[in-house]
Amino acid sequence: MTTQSLHVISRTSRDLLHVHAERHGGRTAVVDSQGAFSYRDLLDASLRVATALLAGREDLHQARVAVLVTPGFPWVAVQWGIWRAGGVAVPLPLNSTKPELEYLIDDSATSTLLFDASAAALLEPIAVARGIRAFPCEHLLAFQTAPRLPEVTSERRAMILYTSGTTSRPKGVVTTHANTTAQIMSLVQAWEWSADDAILLCLPLHHVHGIINVVSCALWSGATCHMLPRFDANTVWDHLAGSRLTLFMAVPTTYAKLIAAWESASLARRAELTRACARLRVMVSGSAALPVSILQRWKEISGHTLLERYGMTEIGMALSNPLRGERVSGSVGIPLPGVEVQLVGDDANPVPSGTPGEIEVRGPNVFAEYWGKPETTRDAFRDGWFRTGDTAMVEGGVYRILGRTNVDILKTGGHKVSALEIEEVLRKHPAVAECAVVGVPDPEWGERVAAAVVLHDGVALDLSSLRAWAKESLAPHKLPSHLLVLEALPRNAMGKVMKPALVAMFQNASDPVA
Ligand code: AMP
Repeated sequence: MTTQSLHVISRTSRDLLHVHAERHGGRTAVVDSQGAFSYRDLLDASLRVATALLAGREDLHQARVAVLVTPGFPWVAVQWGIWRAGGVAVPLPLNSTKPELEYLIDDSATSTLLFDASAAALLEPIAVARGIRAFPCEHLLAFQTAPRLPEVTSERRAMILYTSGTTSRPKGVVTTHANTTAQIMSLVQAWEWSADDAILLCLPLHHVHGIINVVSCALWSGATCHMLPRFDANTVWDHLAGSRLTLFMAVPTTYAKLIAAWESASLARRAELTRACARLRVMVSGSAALPVSILQRWKEISGHTLLERYGMTEIGMALSNPLRGERVSGSVGIPLPGVEVQLVGDDANPVPSGTPGEIEVRGPNVFAEYWGKPETTRDAFRDGWFRTGDTAMVEGGVYRILGRTNVDILKTGGHKVSALEIEEVLRKHPAVAECAVVGVPDPEWGERVAAAVVLHDGVALDLSSLRAWAKESLAPHKLPSHLLVLEALPRNAMGKVMKPALVAMFQNASDPVA
């Protein structure tokens, strides 16, 4: 299946997000807990950041600047400031542990670290140990400007987003400015963004969903982005009721939590919230499969049929249900403007409709490279097509996602985590002889992290003590929610752990806790 046309694919600096946004001047760009900020404010603040980062140099020449800043106006000012100075932004996950941050900073060869003052105690020692520059972002935003900025062209690298891959450590996905602009323009066209729109960000800002689909599409369009520092169901409902939003985007887990909060509200409040949803023009779900039960319940509560789309850090968005027209439940629609999609079989040839195949994607939206991994990058492409590792099928003219080809990647609460990375950590526990991690399907979380372990003789282990121990090395969403203690792991004749069998064992265990 091919593609609709995308009007313009940018090749010049005019089409960089922050340059394009100059035309929106006095309109409100961002609203956060500190107030409302115009596009002019954003350009002024990002100029201060750029000037401070340049510190007298002409150009950062694609130096990596890692960012650990809470979502809000400063986050956007910092991202644009890095771009305006000619740098590459590396957004870091807020709930990371010190070893996780050290890995991301080292892997990206970051030369400057920007953070909220509250994170100084965690990050300054990391910076000192590596001899890299470190600034609280408050310091940069107060900087005097001396407006001499480099010319940044669209083929330059803009951003590195880390994503869990088949190896145990996350890979840095590099996108150029041309890639991000293509990702933005495709969605702006398909979902008919305009300057009259207003959206709420309640997603983290180290992931393509929040960065591109919410913040960047809004700011490209001259719309307003209301930004929450973190997700909280009742706060989101307050905004849906009071902030005159026109769009809302979230992961399925978010909708499950919003449904639970709505159900525990008073009858009068429920009616108010339901009425408020009617004012929005579209509500979108993605980053994980949307359970039909959530789609149906959300429709009863909000009156909206969620628009489900499919995408990935490496490609932005590729497939979407229509803004206008029938949204088929359990499907992710058709290719977005400017994006080519094909399904191929094991023989690398396109499969006919009704036959499962691996999703391959081609277009200006597709990332440039995995940072510092030329071989992995080469292996990720076949004849110019990016191989997603996801399996899908076309049915009735629309795509249906069947799942990830590689069972080692779990999706929990919208986060993508590598089972291998978690296994690496759990194996270090003194009681653990062997272990294997799988995702167990869960209606609220998509999947929950489940660990099967074989223990050393004469020792015991329970879930809460394993979680308490692992907290030092793993972010909360990577901690196991289920534990099975086994005599031996199920292995095939080649000695490989048979993960589908393990998933079945968790599903059959009434109380899969040691
Ligand atoms: P990430 O790179 O973290 O955005 O994760 C991308 C992965 O999420 C894809 O490769 C898919 O496996 C999964 N994914 C994204 N959207 C959907 C969807 N609508 N349905 C099913 N899986 C999805």
